[in-house]
Amino acid sequence: MNAYAIGIDVGGTKIAAGIVDQEGRVLATYQTCAHSEQCPEHVIAAVEETYRALLDRDLVPPQEILGVGVGFAGAIDGPAGTILVSSNLPDWAHVPLRDILTARLGLPVILDNDAHMCAVGEHRFGAGRGTRDMCYVCFSTGYGLGAIVNNQLCVGHTGSAGELSHVVVEIGGAQCTCGKRGCLMAYASGIGIARMVRERVAAGEQTVLGEMLPCDGRRISGEQVAAAAAAGDRVAREVLQRAGYYFGVGLSMLVQLFNPELIVVGGGLTRIGPLLMDACMAGMRENTQPELWNSVRFAPWALGDNVGVIGAAAEVFAAASEHTHPMTCDR
Ligand SMILES: [Zn+2]
Repeated sequence: MNAYAIGIDVGGTKIAAGIVDQEGRVLATYQTCAHSEQCPEHVIAAVEETYRALLDRDLVPPQEILGVGVGFAGAIDGPAGTILVSSNLPDWAHVPLRDILTARLGLPVILDNDAHMCAVGEHRFGAGRGTRDMCYVCFSTGYGLGAIVNNQLCVGHTGSAGELSHVVVEIGGAQCTCGKRGCLMAYASGIGIARMVRERVAAGEQTVLGEMLPCDGRRISGEQVAAAAAAGDRVAREVLQRAGYYFGVGLSMLVQLFNPELIVVGGGLTRIGPLLMDACMAGMRENTQPELWNSVRFAPWALGDNVGVIGAAAEVFAAASEHTHPMTCDR
């Protein structure tokens, strides 16, 4: 019998899903514009719609689908199947999302932090294949991390290991979305880039970014800042270099803490290229003991924009083969 898994990535701007086979190939995809910043009822209905839409394609027999992996941005207690906290989304705190979805879909569901799932995906099917100790970091709206230690995802006591984005790097520094000050996330992320742009425009600095700020309160995107930098805007360049440097400080922590063989670097912001990534590598080296500089390799993500979907499916395959996660629905 063949085996398939459905991966669903509940992100900050969309829900993406796919049917994935045991080789990590995506057979079909489906997307909705529902997203994780909406209320739980809306998101749960959208996840169910996504799942039904994939099944309706009749590409694989339903009895050959092992389960559904759901990746969600935020602090998740994966083993318990609940959203622990989502600081800017109070409605989501302590929602038992896994059990709700298991009941609605009638299949085993695994819930985890999206970056954890991406790490499992890159380890099983992507750039990390064959490594024993690796980290996956995602540089996008937020700063995500999943660490694989001795071929196992590092989950932690309550499932929230790897919250690197909320490690404080500047005591009393910039306000973070989590309520603390000076977290890595406040600098090395799309949210951090937008904040730094706003502050420098408010300080009256000469920059085209002032005219580019969305007037409806939305964040300016990293891509927009990169376009301004490419056109020669000094402030845009400096903001991206600062974000990149802090991203590298985060990598230095991984090298010092985990001594990984490989760090896979993904996320949409990495597409900005050398302006950001050169600063990132400088931030890594300047904050890492020189003896460890050559202990680690860096590689770009191999699964690209599909990493969330393939990763969510990969956790289903991993759970089925290793029984590390409780599968909560007897079939
Ligand atoms: Zn924080």
